[in-house]
Amino acid sequence: MTEENNRLSQVKRFSGAAFCVECGRCVAVCPMAEMYGNFSIEMSPRGIIRKALTEGAEILRDENLWYCTECNAGTDVCPQGVSCRDLVRGLREMVLEEGRAETVASCRHCGKPFAALPVERFVFRRLEKEPMNVLVFLEYCPSCRRALYSRRNA
Ligand code: SF4
Ligand code: SF4
Repeated sequence: MTEENNRLSQVKRFSGAAFCVECGRCVAVCPMAEMYGNFSIEMSPRGIIRKALTEGAEILRDENLWYCTECNAGTDVCPQGVSCRDLVRGLREMVLEEGRAETVASCRHCGKPFAALPVERFVFRRLEKEPMNVLVFLEYCPSCRRALYSRRNA
């Protein structure tokens, strides 16, 4: 088994993905359905879980992996204790470790990748009427954001 497959198995085990019975409860509460006009079963937690279980490492190259907000709502209602958030988070970490970060926004200050681009674009669209000096904060990762905020308010 390759290193990538080993790691993938760990991520799947940690999230409990194999216990999914495809009931769809996580899809019913997933906020992505309201956030994205292109929402589909492929993008949904159930779709991502199914692909992770059946397609192996192919999921790492799937653009649908980057729409999740890591909100945990699906996890809270899952009768099987499957964590869609932990699965997505673990898969994303694998992609970042492999240096393929084109679907992730990087911090304007430290350069660290910190937010999935589709999620960031959604937030910017929702806040587009806010003043520029507020929006600029969103281009910083959470720790640089805190540091900048503390400096400005010292
Ligand atoms: S709620 Fe749980 S068991 Fe049902 S589809 Fe989602 S992950 Fe699978
Ligand atoms: S963690 Fe992701 S997949 Fe799960 S409900 Fe939230 S947005 Fe949907």
